[in-house]
Amino acid sequence: MSWRVGLGHDTHRLAMGGPLRIGGVDIPHDRHSVGHSDADALLHAITDALLGAAGLGDIGQYFPPEDPANRGRDSAEMLQRVLGQVQAVGWQIVNIDCIVHLERPKLAPHWLQIRARLAEVLHIAPEQIGLKAKTGEGLGAIGREELWMAQAVVLLAKTITTS
Ligand code: MG
Repeated sequence: MSWRVGLGHDTHRLAMGGPLRIGGVDIPHDRHSVGHSDADALLHAITDALLGAAGLGDIGQYFPPEDPANRGRDSAEMLQRVLGQVQAVGWQIVNIDCIVHLERPKLAPHWLQIRARLAEVLHIAPEQIGLKAKTGEGLGAIGREELWMAQAVVLLAKTITTS
């Protein structure tokens, strides 16, 4: 077996008016994420982690923000396209682990739904996905609810055939 690890990170501004899309799930909230696509920082971090592990570049190369086709785009669809590229060169996801940095709302009531959606998008079992949330303790840009961030790490495996 061959193994690769990849790291992804993303930040988006928050603005008044919900819902807030996290991991492909629209969470009821009084703020939403601002960006060119649907601004789902968790899916963007996972997408970059996959690309990084496979050595295939980064999300901006595949979906440039200046391209009008990416305006309001569903990040789950973007992630599935990238997953297809990663799988096309033989890699399979072993597991992913994620941290969402967000002051509000509490995400614990939504984890099962978010994890189920991620499992559906990534074609893996929910048990292969770790999710955690951290607040900003009321400090900094996260604490002031000006932005939210997500981090993801992914492990890929490939079976090496030798003759
Ligand atoms: Mg982004």
